[in-house]
Amino acid sequence: MLPQPTIVMKFGGTSVADAERIKRAARRIVAQREAGHRVVAVLSARGHTTDELIRAAEEVSPHPDPREMDMLLSTGERISCALCAMAINDLGHRAISLTGSQAGIVTDTSHTKARILDVRAERIVEALEQDKIVLVAGFQGVSTSRDVTTLGRGGSDTTAVALAAAVGAEVCEIYTDVSGVFSADPRIVPDARKLPLVSFEEMLEMAASGAKVLQLRSVEYARTHGVRIHCRSSFEDGPGTYVIGEDETMEHPLITAVTHSTEEARITVVGVPDRPGAAAEIFEALAEANVNVDTIVQNEPRTAGLEAEVSFTCGSDDLRTAETTLAPVIERFGGAKLETDPEVGKVSIIGAGMRSHPGVAAKVFRVLAGEEINIELINTSPIKITCLIRAESVPRAVNALHTAFGLSASDVKREGALGEEAR
Ligand code: ASP
Ligand code: MG
Repeated sequence: MLPQPTIVMKFGGTSVADAERIKRAARRIVAQREAGHRVVAVLSARGHTTDELIRAAEEVSPHPDPREMDMLLSTGERISCALCAMAINDLGHRAISLTGSQAGIVTDTSHTKARILDVRAERIVEALEQDKIVLVAGFQGVSTSRDVTTLGRGGSDTTAVALAAAVGAEVCEIYTDVSGVFSADPRIVPDARKLPLVSFEEMLEMAASGAKVLQLRSVEYARTHGVRIHCRSSFEDGPGTYVIGEDETMEHPLITAVTHSTEEARITVVGVPDRPGAAAEIFEALAEANVNVDTIVQNEPRTAGLEAEVSFTCGSDDLRTAETTLAPVIERFGGAKLETDPEVGKVSIIGAGMRSHPGVAAKVFRVLAGEEINIELINTSPIKITCLIRAESVPRAVNALHTAFGLSASDVKREGALGEEAR
């Protein structure tokens, strides 16, 4: 007999928020088992548990020790797994819950933002072979120095993808409270449409520019290891969005989606000496402090030898770290200073078809001009154009671009056919 295909099913926090939802997730897991799959399920912490744990830590310590923080944060997903295993056992199946460490997820030592280095899945495989359903606590692992680590906010997605790669799963299903990946955030653009297919490359750009459906790292991992992702609703049936290799997608629409983020901050270093190594000093310090930098802009001073200005953006949650990290660098530059602006937002358009079509950038700028929105920084990749604007203008910009590029449900009629292709 051929071995049964394995699937990984990941449930987000809202999908396991209360007892009813845990039981619903348990039933979905059992249904996949009864349909002939071996199932590894990865669970997030329930509801707002992670936020509450962070708050609890801050109540006892202004700067909680990162190692202890991870010890604390990892408990949320363990609770979900143990409860769900109980519910599955009551449905007449055998389930076993595992911590990230027990599941063999080995990470580096950067607490609260650890990276997966290796997945030693023997214990999972053994349990699957004993016909058990395996539940793994998401968002965590064990470091090379044997401490509990967590993988950064949204990290359960990465746990799921890493396990899917390690056990050779056919698909990594991400069950969430939305029915898939949309052409824009439906809370801002009511007629945004669900995308049947998105390529890894597009999804990477979308996750990096504000789409919250999948953690950025999970998409990187999926692309590197060729893991098919299916983002779908845990509350209704029917297909969601497949994230797959570009060679598997049938066509490349010019523009796929408009994404945005208002959780951005801009930092400008004024008075950077015009000499080799100045930029390296700034960004090495930031890298050392684990600050993820996005857009970087530097213009050469008009007169050689004069000072330059370097601007960059980072997540607003990294702003404070960036400021303290750069203080000594500024000091060394002598006469330099930092200007920060937490009120910025960014809007991006993404589409693999942009590679071969001129004029997309011009159109984006014209649309924003039509809304009287001033562009502060521009950042592009072959398949993405990002504009930094005032945070308050973001919803208007997203709507205008979504309409201008014809992304609304009513503008696109082929969705059904494409969905069939994906399955
Ligand atoms: N519970 C963690 C968070 O809220 C990880 C996750 O849900 O993926 O970020
Ligand atoms: Mg998430």
